[in-house]
Amino acid sequence: MFEEYFVAKKRLYPQSAKGKFRKLKSLLNFVFLSIYFCSPFLRFGRGDGAPNQAILIDISNSKVYFFGIEIWPQEVYYLMGILVIAAVTLFFITSLFGRIWCGYACFQTVWTDIFIGLEKIFQGDRNDRILLDRKNNFKKFWRKCLTHLSWIIVSILTGYSFVCYFCDSISFTKNIFHGEISLHSLGWILGIAGMTYIMAGFAREHVCTFMCPYSRFQSAMFDNNTLIISYDTKRGEPRGKMSHNADFNKRGHCIDCKQCVVVCPTGIDIRNGLQMECIACGLCVDACNNIMDKVGLPRGLIRYDTINHLIDPKPEKKFKLLQPRTLYYTAILLVVCALLLKSLISKSTLEIAAIPDRNPLFVTLSDGSIRNGYQIKISNKTHEKKSFSLKISQPTEAILKMQNLDLSHLEVSPDEVGTFKVFVIMPAEKIAQNTEGRGLIEFIISDEKDEKKVSAVFISK
Ligand code: SF4
Ligand code: SF4
Repeated sequence: MFEEYFVAKKRLYPQSAKGKFRKLKSLLNFVFLSIYFCSPFLRFGRGDGAPNQAILIDISNSKVYFFGIEIWPQEVYYLMGILVIAAVTLFFITSLFGRIWCGYACFQTVWTDIFIGLEKIFQGDRNDRILLDRKNNFKKFWRKCLTHLSWIIVSILTGYSFVCYFCDSISFTKNIFHGEISLHSLGWILGIAGMTYIMAGFAREHVCTFMCPYSRFQSAMFDNNTLIISYDTKRGEPRGKMSHNADFNKRGHCIDCKQCVVVCPTGIDIRNGLQMECIACGLCVDACNNIMDKVGLPRGLIRYDTINHLIDPKPEKKFKLLQPRTLYYTAILLVVCALLLKSLISKSTLEIAAIPDRNPLFVTLSDGSIRNGYQIKISNKTHEKKSFSLKISQPTEAILKMQNLDLSHLEVSPDEVGTFKVFVIMPAEKIAQNTEGRGLIEFIISDEKDEKKVSAVFISK
């Protein structure tokens, strides 16, 4: 009963395609790989003492740097905002253009395409690879060795670039050349390299079909106006082999050459209708267009089209970029982007937190006044040393005390969180007015430019 789920899939030998979608895919591969490999080497001046790497995930200091933007651990909501924007953009693009993310931009597709390209360089195109795999000889041995060697080099470079996002890429690279690399970094490079080698070299289309959750639910975002890879059944069927006296007025235009199948990186036959495995890469469109050119028939037997236009091929049923969902997705994106931008622009470089002592909650002094202890944490998010002044704004009767330090001169190093122990003493008369035994203290911290307030509970019972 379950055998069909466990049948081993046939090994695929995708043939290289020629055409505009292949060119677009190669161009995008180049752009994405250039971004991935070069980004860690971009520099961005942030002043003395701050890292000058434009994109850096600084795990040891729990900070993320992206050009002029710096995200501290307590600002993780910015990352959430970016993720929301990425998700809405992905849903938006999918609902309009189908799975073009999978076909052109997903890292699994990009790396698999590079690995297939390397396979072609060292072992030849589809037919050469099939013939090579049928024999066991020295030619097969060295061609396979070169293929795997090139895959391993690309995988290690991928792992190395990944680690470069988490440390200073230039000193890390220099250290590697001097043979100095920590076991931790080496582990990450090898881990990512191993994953790349397996996923792009062997797992390939199985990742898209069986492992990627996105492929499972994205068809829920499709409707009859979504641009999908479509085989024009009305025009193509009944299919038949090409013959010299073929009369295409009396039969379908598909000559059953299977070129659309052999170029497909997921090994499907799009003539059977849209399938979950289809990543909308458009390579079958190129392959079929080349065949149509050869037999003198119009292009577009396989094309990006909408179901509505396939059913009713009138010009007004063609894909329209301006649809109601374009408007509401754009509106959602604009709102989220505007909110994120506003909060980034108005982001303060000063944060304060007041944490009351838990033990003891309060201390009664000899004159009847009550003392509470607090830890004041001041985050100096600038790249220069700052001096702050700490006061209590409410209630005015409260007295602020600190051991050994001047309250008007609390120094915090650049990019650091300064922690200061303070005591607040509430006079007995004020305590007597508060029968609940709880009140609020409002601290105010300021430097020459900025001012922040924070409240903390004061316990007297
Ligand atoms: S059917 Fe066509 S578009 Fe879909 S994955 Fe295969 S080649 Fe790419
Ligand atoms: S490439 Fe075009 S003509 Fe050839 S089998 Fe596929 S759909 Fe038919």
